[in-house]
Amino acid sequence: MAAMVVAGAVLGGAVLAGCASPADSRTEATDSPTAATASPPAAPKKPPTMAPGPAGRTPVFERRPSGDGAGRSAERVVALTFDADMTADQGSRAASGERFDNPELIALLRRLKVPSTVFMTGRWAEEYPAQAKAIGTDPLFEIANHSYSHYAFSTPCYGLPVVEKAAMTRDVERAFAAFRKAGARNVVPYFRFPGGCYDDATLRALAPAKVTAVQWDVVSGDAFATDADAVADQVLAGVRPGSLVVMHCTRSAAPATEAAVRRIVPELRERGYRFVKVSELMEG
Ligand SMILES: [Zn+2]
Repeated sequence: MAAMVVAGAVLGGAVLAGCASPADSRTEATDSPTAATASPPAAPKKPPTMAPGPAGRTPVFERRPSGDGAGRSAERVVALTFDADMTADQGSRAASGERFDNPELIALLRRLKVPSTVFMTGRWAEEYPAQAKAIGTDPLFEIANHSYSHYAFSTPCYGLPVVEKAAMTRDVERAFAAFRKAGARNVVPYFRFPGGCYDDATLRALAPAKVTAVQWDVVSGDAFATDADAVADQVLAGVRPGSLVVMHCTRSAAPATEAAVRRIVPELRERGYRFVKVSELMEG
């Protein structure tokens, strides 16, 4: 759907758009219980995933389905997701002071107690390992996968360099490995395509990665936006029960996001919405 792809924005060759974890990281999330516990420790909650499509195709989740007949459509839940974009060639820019992180945004989400999902590139976790660990060990957050270096998984995709089909699964696994190396533990097996770009061949090629792809139904328009109110207005106008909102966690390319969230969160709570992580949105 074309509408699903507009979250990408291009500036200076960089694209922002709409972070997941394999079974081994879930295993890591299980802290070993102390030896003397009388009852067995509760099993770690496994994040829900969607069943693969035909021929193992990677499934795609966009929002909690509405009208499922169980009354869930009316539940006012919404998932805010934040993409932590960074490409391999942006290392020198980071070294010269450009900030691809946004710790103020993360601090705000903590202050407001907003559970959220960060779709992180492996490259971002390598650049900001302390932040990746802090986010990935805070139960308020979950880290999902946004590829290693924000290359396109189908073309055209905003002029992004392209990952070859044979290298797609490896690219996703490389990002998961970067999260593990940083010490992140609450990592979920979800993947967001850079630029939101994918096609049927991509879904087939990515099948071995065993991830659920996560798109969105609400585009915040925060990429390169400077008017926080416009971003907030767009989100507030677009959210419906079960919505999934795409935003960014990279100050240099999405400078208005924190200010927009400052408005979005109280206004949605006023309307009766509860914020959930993607894993909770996907449940049921
Ligand atoms: Zn992105």
